[in-house]
Amino acid sequence: MKKYDYLVVGAGLYGAVFAHEAKAAGKRVLVIDKRDTIAGNVYTEKIEGINVHKYGAHIFHTNNQEVWNFVNRFATFNRFTNSPVANYHGELYSLPFNMYTFNKMWGVVTPEEAAAKIEEQRKAAGITEPKNLEEQAISLVGTDIYEKLIRGYTQKQWGRPCRELPAFIIRRLPVRLTFDNNYFNALYQGIPVGGYTKMVENMLEGIEVELGVDYLSDKQRFDELAKKVIYTGPIDAYFGYSLGTLEYRSVRFENELLDKPNFQGNAAVNYTDSDTPWTRIIEHKWFEFGRDEEGNELPKTVISKEYSSEWKPGDEPYYPVNDEKNGELYARYKKLTESESNVKFGGRLGEYKYYDMDAVIASALAYCKEEL
Ligand code: UDP
Repeated sequence: MKKYDYLVVGAGLYGAVFAHEAKAAGKRVLVIDKRDTIAGNVYTEKIEGINVHKYGAHIFHTNNQEVWNFVNRFATFNRFTNSPVANYHGELYSLPFNMYTFNKMWGVVTPEEAAAKIEEQRKAAGITEPKNLEEQAISLVGTDIYEKLIRGYTQKQWGRPCRELPAFIIRRLPVRLTFDNNYFNALYQGIPVGGYTKMVENMLEGIEVELGVDYLSDKQRFDELAKKVIYTGPIDAYFGYSLGTLEYRSVRFENELLDKPNFQGNAAVNYTDSDTPWTRIIEHKWFEFGRDEEGNELPKTVISKEYSSEWKPGDEPYYPVNDEKNGELYARYKKLTESESNVKFGGRLGEYKYYDMDAVIASALAYCKEEL
């Protein structure tokens, strides 16, 4: 008789959602994580009244009613709308690409003028079927915007030339012929009041959680505890990298607490030139309008400079590099999972997928329906 029905490896969103649903279905669940904190990469830590997104900015957005209803059971969401500013050598542009961006870039005033300008640049570049990120970007927004707002940023973020990156990455970004600065097309958007950590804590309420323990280094002992394992760590690490390592991009954050109320006037400023070494600066207080939960204005500010780097074993993996080579390697690892019938691989690392938060939750909920 095993002590638990489920051992959940990883206390991030996938693991927390599964654990919550399993407990609600009357199952015995143990959640473990090798970090000393819950919430995976959505972890937030309060510094001087500011919820600092320790593993990078997370802005919740979704079109999925079921997911939206689900998360609202664990947190109240504020009305934050993501509208990053792009800084290209001190020239500021509005993101995502919209009429404000086109007006600043070309002086165009109407949507027709903007569309004509994009079409003219697309034609001049001679692209019909975009085969990579560069061609996709130029065919969406033209060469000027590609040069100033996409090329430098993307090459810094991915450490690869835009011609070697898949087109789908840039299709995440909306292009609009309207004056709409909302980065996301989603119906629902916001930041959980009190931070993501509190939201995940609420999901894990009443569930046994063991932190600071490494599943893979004591796998046999952990496996004996439960009938089934929900594994949300890197899939290649699970198999001891036996087929080679899947590539990730990692991110390094330089956090600073500044003794002033306002550093950049926006939550996110992207540095889109290739000379600035960081990709963007996040000023966390603006996710909550510069105020604490009681509504008081905060006198200080915390900023994070984000530096992107190639992942190597021992680093934190952030972004799966979903190109052809890694896709093939992932498919081979996926094949290996077939002989692990007692293990479910889930989440951004378990499925090697550039998942947004809402998609991770949707996929966990779908699995719960099937499994529980
Ligand atoms: N991107 C860009 N310029 C920007 C912001 C984004 O070229 O100022 C491109 C870049 O290739 C990036 C992709 O759009 O990888 C997706 O950006 P997103 O902001 O969705 O990435 P995330 O927020 O997940 O880091």
